[in-house]
Amino acid sequence: MKKTIGVVGGGAAGMTAAILAARNGAYVTLLEGNDRVGKKLLSTGNGKCNLGNTDLGPERYGTRSPGRLKVWLDQFDTEATIDFFCAIGLLTKKKNGGLYPVSEQASSVLDVLRFEMEREERIRVRTGCRVDRIRRDEERNRILLWSGSEVLSFDRVILACGGRAAPKTGSDGSGYRLAEMLGHSLVPVVPALVQLKCREDWFKSVAGVRAEAEILLEDKEIGRIRERGELQLVDYGISGIPVFQLSGRINYILREKKEVTLKIDFLPDCKGRAEEFSERLVRKRMPVERCGTVEEYFTGVLNKKLMTLMMKLAGLRPSEPAYGADPDKIRRVYELCRCLEVHVTGSNSFEHAQVCAGGVPLDELTEELESVKAPGVFFAGELLDVDGRCGGYNLQWAWCSGYLAGVFAAEGEQ
Ligand SMILES: Cc1cc2nc3c(=O)[nH]c(=O)nc-3n(C[C@H](O)[C@H](O)[C@H](O)COP(=O)(O)OP(=O)(O)OC[C@H]3O[C@@H](n4cnc5c(N)ncnc54)[C@H](O)[C@@H]3O)c2cc1C
Repeated sequence: MKKTIGVVGGGAAGMTAAILAARNGAYVTLLEGNDRVGKKLLSTGNGKCNLGNTDLGPERYGTRSPGRLKVWLDQFDTEATIDFFCAIGLLTKKKNGGLYPVSEQASSVLDVLRFEMEREERIRVRTGCRVDRIRRDEERNRILLWSGSEVLSFDRVILACGGRAAPKTGSDGSGYRLAEMLGHSLVPVVPALVQLKCREDWFKSVAGVRAEAEILLEDKEIGRIRERGELQLVDYGISGIPVFQLSGRINYILREKKEVTLKIDFLPDCKGRAEEFSERLVRKRMPVERCGTVEEYFTGVLNKKLMTLMMKLAGLRPSEPAYGADPDKIRRVYELCRCLEVHVTGSNSFEHAQVCAGGVPLDELTEELESVKAPGVFFAGELLDVDGRCGGYNLQWAWCSGYLAGVFAAEGEQ
């Protein structure tokens, strides 16, 4: 008798798990709450789907168990992702370290997964089937799932319901509730890869500005973390890749009711500390005597809106004569360009987040991704306590964990 496996969730992890479990001889039913599979995949990478990264390692992820994560990433790495997709018909290419479909269309990634599931006779896909309860029947060694009043029974189940990020795509957090029904704990779940809200009231004046910058986060426990890239200023705070990369950690710091102050360097290629830099520029740049106004003097240092803000924060009026302006204030403008402090008060909600940090702890699973609380139940994807940086790491984790959960769930004694 072949094993029957129920896969809950038809996202990146669930579809991969279903394909691998069927390839390994199991009869698979994939249960998806939406009316179609893979909705979130379509919006990934701005529609281009950044599906992996050549610079892979556990340090690219947030998790309480990096050692355990490494074991799995080593078993299914970026080359394995390339081979998996090539074997089901998708050509991929590497671009700035990221892995993309050659077509640059996220829909191609979803299509090849769907076609492969259709080709596998042992996979049955049921859409519009949201699972709301799970229980292990110890006597019969079966896993029972409820969808409304319908009860489904399987030899094994793979939970791949995603997290709570972008719930419009179907991942509404119900996976966490199913995990808790089995006795699992949860590492607190917070939005990650998300915009940050700041206290300063001047943000409206610079909304829309995009600038290369380096952001420094300092925290007693985690130390100093720097992120560089294109910073986007919005009317309530900051956005852009460097902000996304820090956002999960910042949400955990804020959860502990600690203050978060970020230092932004808008001239990250300039050498030396802010004060020395400022001294140097005062000496080297055009002397104030040659300029009419303060605004004229500071033209061309940064984006005009940003520069106007720096002048105001330093206590200078852009229209005041440069000659005779307080030299300390002039220095202060330069210092602010190198080190503008902003106070983070929170982040946007799960609706705007690309992923969730936190989830089912990895040490509540075996090395085969099987629950230690409910043997026969396996886990994959974002539902677990693994959140990757921007750059294809989250999908790499979905393929990796889905692949391994599919293989492990299908093998062994029934
Ligand atoms: C806008 C956006 C852009 C992104 N871009 C990238 C990118 O370029 N690269 C990258 O690596 N990552 C990216 N991510 C993150 C990545 O998409 C996710 O980490 C990944 O899709 C998670 O896969 P998953 O299968 O674990 O969960 P999901 O993709 O969320 O899939 C879970 C599925 O389970 C279903 N489901 C949930 N609960 C139930 C239930 N109780 N019963 C039945 N079905 C259920 C849901 O409907 C959903 O289809 C992006 C995310 C967003 C929101």
